[in-house]
Amino acid sequence: MDTAKLEENIGFIRQQIREAALRAGRDPKDVHLCAAGKTQPSEVIRASAKLDIDLFGENRMQEMRAHMQADAYLGKPVHFIGHLQTNKVRQVVGKAAVIESVGSLRLLDAIDAEAAKQGMTQNILIEINLGKEPSKAGIFAEDLRSTLEQATTKGSVHVLGLMAIPPVVATEDENRDFFASLRELSQLAKNWNIEGVSLDVLSMGMSDSYVTAIEEGATHVRIGRGIFGERVYQSR
Ligand SMILES: *Cc1c(COP(=O)(O)O)cnc(C)c1O
Repeated sequence: MDTAKLEENIGFIRQQIREAALRAGRDPKDVHLCAAGKTQPSEVIRASAKLDIDLFGENRMQEMRAHMQADAYLGKPVHFIGHLQTNKVRQVVGKAAVIESVGSLRLLDAIDAEAAKQGMTQNILIEINLGKEPSKAGIFAEDLRSTLEQATTKGSVHVLGLMAIPPVVATEDENRDFFASLRELSQLAKNWNIEGVSLDVLSMGMSDSYVTAIEEGATHVRIGRGIFGERVYQSR
């Protein structure tokens, strides 16, 4: 993908973000554009980092590491948004500004232990499996309170908010219900006033759903195909 096309795509998305935010009575500055970089080579990541995106989201630590070594992010923050095995946390803690995909207590514990070892505090989001989809990671809504209470007993993680991945086959109305439920869950959790937990971040919405997500309160939208075009998976 050439730079002109990247610029056009990002410009279009920015315009959509702006309009969706204003429609919802929100400040467009409160919506952060996260470029989901999976499968993209470092040169494309670097070209996009020069453009109007706020941060990157990576699913695969090997890709994240390669882009970091190539200095492709140009200092922009990187969030880890993919499935993370507990035995692999060492490679992500302290490198990703935020680990968004924390969907189990086991993973929370492992991240806390590694962050403590490194002498730092790792910012995280709690991933919610709103529809209890068996194929999906994430904690169930009814377990959020106990999970947040657990998180506050950990000295080396800081919860910034919630993230979720909408169901793959969903209509716009279904997406809207999904995003609204997540916003309501976040609001409910704020009212628990759990010390040390901030719930300012709501990461939801992807290429096919970000407009609706913003209308329903997303602070971060994670967009891959809309920026980079369809993904090409290399088979090895
Ligand atoms: C790939 C991915 C995205 C972006 O998906 P697109 O449909 O390409 O916009 C967002 N979030 C997560 C967790 C992803 O893995």
